[in-house]
Amino acid sequence: MRCRLREDAVAIPARRGAVPARLAPLAARLAVALAAALFPAAPAAAQDALVAMREAARETWGRATLPAAGPARSIGGAGLGCLAGAEALPAEGPGWLVVRRSRNRFWGTPLLVDTIARLAGRARAAGLPPLRIGDMSQPRGGPMTFGHGSHQTGLDVDVWLDLSGAPLPPAARESVQFPSLVLPGGAAVDPERWRPAHATLIRLAAEQPEVDRIFVNPAIKRRLCGEFAGAAWLRRVRPWYGHDSHMHVRLRCPAGDAGCEPQAPVPAGDGCGTALDWWFSPASRAPATRPPGPPPRLPAACAGVLAAP
Ligand SMILES: [Zn+2]
Repeated sequence: MRCRLREDAVAIPARRGAVPARLAPLAARLAVALAAALFPAAPAAAQDALVAMREAARETWGRATLPAAGPARSIGGAGLGCLAGAEALPAEGPGWLVVRRSRNRFWGTPLLVDTIARLAGRARAAGLPPLRIGDMSQPRGGPMTFGHGSHQTGLDVDVWLDLSGAPLPPAARESVQFPSLVLPGGAAVDPERWRPAHATLIRLAAEQPEVDRIFVNPAIKRRLCGEFAGAAWLRRVRPWYGHDSHMHVRLRCPAGDAGCEPQAPVPAGDGCGTALDWWFSPASRAPATRPPGPPPRLPAACAGVLAAP
């Protein structure tokens, strides 16, 4: 599942190929060297060198197999940040199970872990089957080797929109595939797959006070607008491409976490009507342009997170 979000600070191209955990000691040394290269207030380097450094940064952060010790801190923004003192979401609990756990992306702030557990409990109380939890953050957050531009600060989680209730034993959780809920062409949800329970799950998540916003496919947002226009919780449900078989839940910065950079507030209103119509217009398909200037860099404090025991 790939989430590249315009509402993030940056979007990072996907790249496959993580480095095995057995290289962790080497990774630690490389991390220190790279941190020194990445974080000084150096003059702007050549563009190709910057690209190479960012590529190396993704590899480096992807190699961390365990969280940095100490209190939980969410540093920077969802699209350019890192995470200290991360907590692991257990492989399963009352009302949830984690899929593709071998990716080692089941880490987050304690706030995220608590919120997932609470959401799972509420979904269960509403009669929904166990939630399938996808990627959260890497052990120390940071840029990922593949698959996401955000998920870097322990405040994001992907929840699959699979409410089939089909058995999912541990051996099947690594390879399971979830079908799209959206028709080819993206104009509407697939009436053969969409169920009222999908709306219930998205609503339950959007009603959690810790949740800042939720990304779903524009066709899913359109469906929700058709049924629930004007509902307060709908404001937090934001349209973005992809997200047709999962929702991406993002939390607000934890209270008192001074290094966490909050995102701009979601616009007022339920996000239906004209604002949503744009997503179905040709203009929405125009390629995004990159803002001028040097690419943004990770917060300086992330160097310490990489180097920490
Ligand atoms: Zn996501």
